[in-house]
Amino acid sequence: MTRRPRILVIGAGFAGVECVRRLERKLGPDEADVALVTPFSYQLYLPLLPQVASGVLTPQSIAVSLRRSKKYRTRIIPGGAIGVDLAAKVCVIRTITDEIVNEPYDYLVLAPGSVTRTFDIPGLAEHAFGMKTLAEAAYIRDHVISQLDLADASDDPEERAARLQFVVVGGGYAGTETAACLQRLTHAAVRRYPRLDPSLIRWHLIDIAPKLMPELGDRLGKQALKILRDRGIDVSLGVSVAKVTEDEVTFTDGRVIPTHTLIWTAGVVASPLIGTLDAETVRGRLAVTPEMTVPGHDGVFALGDAAAVPDLAKGEKDAICPPTAQHAMRQGPKVADNIIHALRGEPLEPYVHKDLGLVVDLGGKDAVSRPLGIELRGILAQAVARGYHWSALRTGVAKARVMVNWLLNAIAGDDFVRTGFQARKPAQLKDFEYTDSYLTPDQVRTEVRTAEAEGKVRGKVTGG
Ligand SMILES: Cc1cc2nc3c(=O)[nH]c(=O)nc-3n(C[C@H](O)[C@H](O)[C@H](O)COP(=O)(O)OP(=O)(O)OC[C@H]3O[C@@H](n4cnc5c(N)ncnc54)[C@H](O)[C@@H]3O)c2cc1C
Repeated sequence: MTRRPRILVIGAGFAGVECVRRLERKLGPDEADVALVTPFSYQLYLPLLPQVASGVLTPQSIAVSLRRSKKYRTRIIPGGAIGVDLAAKVCVIRTITDEIVNEPYDYLVLAPGSVTRTFDIPGLAEHAFGMKTLAEAAYIRDHVISQLDLADASDDPEERAARLQFVVVGGGYAGTETAACLQRLTHAAVRRYPRLDPSLIRWHLIDIAPKLMPELGDRLGKQALKILRDRGIDVSLGVSVAKVTEDEVTFTDGRVIPTHTLIWTAGVVASPLIGTLDAETVRGRLAVTPEMTVPGHDGVFALGDAAAVPDLAKGEKDAICPPTAQHAMRQGPKVADNIIHALRGEPLEPYVHKDLGLVVDLGGKDAVSRPLGIELRGILAQAVARGYHWSALRTGVAKARVMVNWLLNAIAGDDFVRTGFQARKPAQLKDFEYTDSYLTPDQVRTEVRTAEAEGKVRGKVTGG
């Protein structure tokens, strides 16, 4: 009996969703079965996450439904891949109800993205928040407002001062936008707290690098720095964190900041799923060819933040694409095309894309952008930043939600509601980003072997 080839896509982010959509459009239903492993039923539009943290956008606005496409026919497996046995061609999945499923494939697309990169700094894992998931953004919003509420209720000047200091680590776009958007929120909120002295609110943005967002170029980078400093954000470059406790952050320059808020955005590292594969990596990302295939493993593709895709457009030896949505959303369709080429016995195509630049929304009317090398700031940069993100949202409903939220915020101003939904839940990076859920390569092999012996690999006919 001949059966349809099984294409398994892991991760419903920019890369995974764009890949699936192209497969749905270009492949006939009888040509292949497509399945998508994802813990959530949405694609998260990450670049707008700081605006959820600051309450400009509601969480639902940037959680783009996976089930709205007209051509939608992919089987969605609700869960996370916790290991892949490349030799057996089986992916081990933990479903959202904590069951283990062994899913065989003929073609595998690895697009699980990245997680927050941390270092061995005392107290960091216990006390830092990341800015990578919708839950983290919603949690941080509640946390920041709760600091204002607690400071307002306290008569202890030391506690007040500590509650009103906030530290963001990471001067890339994620950290800079987060600090800028949240500072704007607290600045607006404090007017509703007549007992609080606004001058006690201090935001610190620090980075070990000597420059903020070097991708912006010298002039625009300096302008971004000036905008932040003019707004009262204390930016320290060449500085990192030495130690963290529940109520203090010690910087490497010796300063000790009394605070209950440390937001850690100092870079990303490929999803821990990559470590379960026992395959070659480049700077922690899975090594792939320019066609995004994993060398030595037939039918396996990897892309997005999780993969070290050669950046052919740069023309430099060993250059790899930076971990950006811009690349991930273009690599997705290219991988889909290459799978279709492979199915039809045609040659694969390399991925080539020239970077289009960067847009950075600093909240309100402040922004800096560098589309196609043109340097913009102020309202024009803001229009380009918002226009770019708005047009990149995949569905009309998501576009409408985001536009309505922006208009509402422009007319009615910020809102300071603390929902309290997650107040008593564990709030460590590993809880939000599930970094401790993965198997070791040995555990993957044992799991798959046992499942095969017990006939529990889904749809796999053994012994034939
Ligand atoms: C705050 C912030 C702002 C940013 N701003 C910009 C910007 O302005 N411009 C830009 O180009 N880029 C920006 N980026 C970077 C950009 O968002 C990423 O490069 C992009 O999301 C990478 O796409 P991806 O598909 O590889 O991963 P993601 O979009 O992260 O998608 C990965 C998906 O896989 C899922 N997943 C993870 N592990 C598993 C698993 N084991 N099993 C199943 N599913 C799994 C995740 O839930 C997620 O849905 C920003 C990032 C952040 C955090």
